[in-house]
Amino acid sequence: MKIGTPKETFEGENRVAMTPESALQLQKLGHSCMIEAGAGEAAGFSNDKYVEAGVEVIDTAAELWETADVVAKVRVPNTEEMAMLRSDQTLISFFSPVADEAKMKEAAEKGTTVVAMEMIPRISRAQKMDALSSMANIAGYRAVIEAGNNFGRFFTGQITAAGKVPPAKVLVVGAGVAGLAAIGTSTSLGAITLAFDVRPEVAEQVESMGAEFVYLDFEEEQQDGSASGGYASVSSPEFREAQLAKFRELAPEVDIVITTALIPNREAPELWTEDMVAAMKPGSVIVDLAAEKGGNCKLTKMDEKIVTENGVTIIGYTDFPSRMATQASTLYATNIRHLMTDLTPEKDGVVNHNMEDDVIRGATITHDKEVTFPPPPPKVA
Ligand code: NAD
Repeated sequence: MKIGTPKETFEGENRVAMTPESALQLQKLGHSCMIEAGAGEAAGFSNDKYVEAGVEVIDTAAELWETADVVAKVRVPNTEEMAMLRSDQTLISFFSPVADEAKMKEAAEKGTTVVAMEMIPRISRAQKMDALSSMANIAGYRAVIEAGNNFGRFFTGQITAAGKVPPAKVLVVGAGVAGLAAIGTSTSLGAITLAFDVRPEVAEQVESMGAEFVYLDFEEEQQDGSASGGYASVSSPEFREAQLAKFRELAPEVDIVITTALIPNREAPELWTEDMVAAMKPGSVIVDLAAEKGGNCKLTKMDEKIVTENGVTIIGYTDFPSRMATQASTLYATNIRHLMTDLTPEKDGVVNHNMEDDVIRGATITHDKEVTFPPPPPKVA
């Protein structure tokens, strides 16, 4: 089948869903590959590199959408792209089926099969296709780099001829995929790193990365805030109070706070309050990875960097993966290539959309003219 990748239309989006390397692998599955001219430019992949990898470069988006059997892209299609969807086509893309319900219905009516990349189940077998995790990993890394870029001191402590420099103290709130990446980056830069999560099972992971897990002064044991699939459940009011009390205690001593706390399908929990920001030292930095879902910090402004009156920088960018477009495109294109491997079991260039397969079923939001979202819970862990 013909797999085509258009240039992303969302303003400022630098990623691309197919790289020359992923195209080589897709061709080994029996598919042919097409790319819109210039689609890889912002991620560092020139048209020539695609041609060398056997990819056909197509001049216009319209021509690409018209000829591709499978369209692989990054962002949910815009109105013009939606209009180009066809009944015999498969679209593989981030799609946000809840926020973009109308578009999902439109695709179903047209008969397009849509595979939403954020719906890939978080089960072991699907890790290689898990684009949310590969992008969150980048976001966690980049959050620390961005913090460092806005922080006036070293991360690591030093004893120099010009004086002794204390290490920076970094607090990471939420130790999921992005949080663990942030912890790894922070410890490797030499900062004293503290991390907190409502799921006690991550304490061991945090400690094995050289960071200190923050335990609460809570009468009972640390609440088990785990739900299924490595996600958190909502905290009790008492637990939340104990958490905020601990953060209040830490606010004056931490230099950098990276917040990543997320509970699926909910607004981000507010964990870093105004009084905590006010208690921080001037020059401190907060990077709020949950900005898109309302922010973990009360003062975060989505897609902006602000500096408070007391000199605390708060970063609410939502495009960290796009800011590392070469890396992000490489990982995302690999996620798609693995998905295509599962969709092409015979490696004969024929897509077999097996709705009995947990992973394919979980991620498919429209098929056979029906909306197939939400999926049933996965059968295997
Ligand atoms: P994840 O589900 O793997 O991790 C979230 C963690 O937060 C979990 O470990 C969970 O237990 C923890 N958590 C939930 N409630 C908490 C609370 N009250 N206190 C402390 N911890 C709590 O999610 P992820 O994939 O790591 O993504 C993290 C965030 O980063 C998400 O909001 C995601 O949308 C965002 N993200 C941002 C960008 C960007 O460019 N800004 C890019 C990718 C992801």
